[in-house]
Amino acid sequence: MTDMLAKYAAKLVVAGLCAPGEPLLAALDAELSFSHAGDARQPLAETVIQGLGTAALLIARPMGACQQTMLALAEEALATGAGFVVPGDCETRTFLHDLPVVRGLEAQGVMAALSRRKGCIIVDSGQAFMAAAGSVSPEQAFVTASSMAFACFVAYFAKHLRDVRVGGMTAARRAGFAAIRAQLDQDMARLPQAPPPLLAGPFADEDQARAAMIEAGRCVVEYGLVDSSFGNVSCRQPTPAGELLLISQTGSSLDELGGCIDPCRFDGTSCVGLTASSELVAHRAIYDGGPARTILHGHPRFAVILSMDCDKLECPGLGQCHRSCATPRGLLDAALGLDIPIVPGEVGTGPFGLCNTLPPALNQEGGKRGAIVYGHGLFATGAVDFRDAFATLFSVERYSREEYFRRVDGLDGTALSH
Ligand SMILES: [Zn+2]
Repeated sequence: MTDMLAKYAAKLVVAGLCAPGEPLLAALDAELSFSHAGDARQPLAETVIQGLGTAALLIARPMGACQQTMLALAEEALATGAGFVVPGDCETRTFLHDLPVVRGLEAQGVMAALSRRKGCIIVDSGQAFMAAAGSVSPEQAFVTASSMAFACFVAYFAKHLRDVRVGGMTAARRAGFAAIRAQLDQDMARLPQAPPPLLAGPFADEDQARAAMIEAGRCVVEYGLVDSSFGNVSCRQPTPAGELLLISQTGSSLDELGGCIDPCRFDGTSCVGLTASSELVAHRAIYDGGPARTILHGHPRFAVILSMDCDKLECPGLGQCHRSCATPRGLLDAALGLDIPIVPGEVGTGPFGLCNTLPPALNQEGGKRGAIVYGHGLFATGAVDFRDAFATLFSVERYSREEYFRRVDGLDGTALSH
């Protein structure tokens, strides 16, 4: 058990969310185990895990811009008395709901918060910590923690741009933002700056297509483009027995897809429907209606943040943008050849499901390289293999980050001193 706990602690470090050796994971099996020994938070973890009767618990202090964005939101929630951070992205809507904020690394407050939610933010000694419970496994606590870090990052930057648009800036807010921006520049400098040499297509057979999917999944996580727990990968592959739609399983980790890829048929007759990604219907519709051979889907942070930015401050549809939006939107930059539509759409196949909005957006006018679902993430397509899909994901996220700060600077002139 200790090995598994150490593995998930290490995944938070690889994802750039925590410093090496920092995340503490605990699990109650036949006995209580920890990811590492000698951590002063062990008694707290033991009390909480036994008090809640849960299988696993994670306590971790995020670092870098994740620390600063989470702390800023948590301190505001405490100062206003709200007691919650309420991010507006899709992961939060479907997975976390809201994030309770408690004061102090002490058991009572953490237990009260975790009895209602999967995760909570703890503010202690001027630092933000994440606590997350896993009812059956340590992996659940890891997934919750990485989703919390993502949600707070997205919520902070989205809120800042929205507040700049309505003229709600103060000197203190600007100073806090400038510090977070400088930290983000440092975080980004640690990441690879050019796309990797991925397997070239067309793939000779199903095994090669699977290997390419595993490689692409691992690289999007290593490049810091997406979190491992949210997203999916698929490939349309001819085989002697007919064409297959190979797709990652629901709940699989993008950086560990070996053994987690389902072969589905295009006519839907023999799909392993119970384990295939929840977005199988959307993937199939994209392949049916256009030339794509591969699809790479993840939640790159600034692409998600920009998708939620809108200058129609009086729009009657506000609050429902993730379900429907009458205004055609997109990321457009003629000089860069960038043309990425932004569409509404909920997860799944309901009336507002992205399976109705996304495929037509990608397949319009001879095909787009990618499309963003509002507040959710990017679906990038490849014409032959994953090299072009990866390049789209890479360039869209880089463009989105630069465009985000261009918009903030353009709207809030005093930030130009950065
Ligand atoms: Zn998604």
